[in-house]
Amino acid sequence: MERKISISKPSVGEEEVKAVSEVIRSGIIAQGPQVSKLEEEFSKLCNSEYSIAVNSGTAALHTSLNVAGINGGDEVITTPFTFIATANTIMMQNAKPVFVDIDEDSFNLNPDLIEEKITDKTRAIVTVDLYGQLCDYIKINEIANKYNLVVISDSCQSIGAEQESFKSGSIADITAFSFYATKNITCGEGGILTTNNEDYEKKARLFRQHGRSDLNNYDYTHIGYNYRTTDINASILLEQLKKLSDFTNKRISNANYLLENLKDIPGLVLPKTFKNNKHVFHQFTIKINSDFKMRRDDLVKYFKDKGINCGVYYPKSIHLFDHLIKFGYQEGDFPVAERLSGEVISLPVHPELSRDDLNYIVSSINGVI
Ligand SMILES: *Cc1c(COP(=O)(O)O)cnc(C)c1O
Repeated sequence: MERKISISKPSVGEEEVKAVSEVIRSGIIAQGPQVSKLEEEFSKLCNSEYSIAVNSGTAALHTSLNVAGINGGDEVITTPFTFIATANTIMMQNAKPVFVDIDEDSFNLNPDLIEEKITDKTRAIVTVDLYGQLCDYIKINEIANKYNLVVISDSCQSIGAEQESFKSGSIADITAFSFYATKNITCGEGGILTTNNEDYEKKARLFRQHGRSDLNNYDYTHIGYNYRTTDINASILLEQLKKLSDFTNKRISNANYLLENLKDIPGLVLPKTFKNNKHVFHQFTIKINSDFKMRRDDLVKYFKDKGINCGVYYPKSIHLFDHLIKFGYQEGDFPVAERLSGEVISLPVHPELSRDDLNYIVSSINGVI
């Protein structure tokens, strides 16, 4: 039998099917009571005061930047080693993404390089908690306090992650999450933002529906979009939330198995979990350097031929895309991000993998060396 191991797979079952059927039969299928319930449960999960559900992670990021007051002429510090939505949403508010290079070991923003990029136009830092591990918020929040900047966390990959006594969703001023099909929990497409700031919460509820309040009185005070989600989506997520800790534990145990069985391979650098962090392994990302027997791109192809679908997140540092390079960026500006975009490869780690699948991944790598 030919083997096929995918890089991600939604874990959905009969519970979700039943929940969706009930919503459809109820007659309320757009934003309604299930969305409110989802927001309540999500706030409990993150220890955050408020949660506002929207229809994608991109919508959650755009809303976060808008309610934080980011506008034309503002500068927003972020990482070039991320999914494009992080920078696009900054540009959607007509602000300039100011990139800061990443840390070699965490793949996240290097906090020691932030201060030199702060100008009198800097208004916010958008941190990205890449692959399932939080940024160094002790240092980042300290810098933000010193310069009076808003910290917006793009935690689309890090639901359930923790640092010290904080959870993702309550460690930054505003946090954005995604429920796209590849994320740790999903409803196909979806997103949510969390905050402890009542002013941000009120503005986010307006921004999500054309500046109209939830009271449905056709009174518009504010520009807005249609970023509402539906009770159908919310009912799926309410079931997914019940399963989140099982999913996370399975991801961690799969990661530990790979860590244990891929030790000491020349040129293969394993992911690190930092002290006082809970890494939720959205991705298990290794680095392939020149000491390895094969080049990174050849290894991706080798895996593909073996039926193992690996990911390269991300093949290009985003300051080099046409619509960003116009801000004056060039090759060589962010040497760590640029080098790692040629070294990273993410191995399957999702909860649907069997022990047999993991062994097959390990033995395929051993077949190279
Ligand atoms: C998935 C993701 C997003 C965007 O989420 P969507 O729901 O696809 O809009 C943004 N940032 C990061 C880091 C992501 O992984």
